[in-house]
Amino acid sequence: MNIRIGFGVDVHQLVKGRDLIIGGVHIPSELGALGHSDADVLLHAICDALLGALNLRDIGYHFSDNDPQYKGIDSKILLRETFRLIKDKGYHLVNLDATVILEKPKVNPHVEKMRNVISEILETEPDNISIKATTHERVDSFGEQKALKAYCVCLLNKN
Ligand code: MG
Repeated sequence: MNIRIGFGVDVHQLVKGRDLIIGGVHIPSELGALGHSDADVLLHAICDALLGALNLRDIGYHFSDNDPQYKGIDSKILLRETFRLIKDKGYHLVNLDATVILEKPKVNPHVEKMRNVISEILETEPDNISIKATTHERVDSFGEQKALKAYCVCLLNKN
């Protein structure tokens, strides 16, 4: 079997005084994501899906959040490094499908830019990168704007 499925999920707290970066795109917002890196919840979920597809552990295993070299790091760099591991194993991305859960602001106006950023890093067409967005209907910590979350599934194929 040459095709492999992967799944990833990530959560970050929302706080004042931090930037909100999702899918490599800076989104103007009163609240930003808290984390050791730039806290890009979508790129982290994608990294975990890619790693999971080839049973390569998880993002924290490869890029420790105790390691000073990753403090404040642009998660596009982490995604690029992760994809290098995938390529080293002789695989490429078929497609990925992700969902971002954020109460506000709206993610949808930024989705096309995110797809362009991600497809460039993963060396594929934007058509193979699906990003969906939903609110949490004002319910629970996500709905109360205490946190945001992303899920991703991906399919890889051997070259
Ligand atoms: Mg994370």
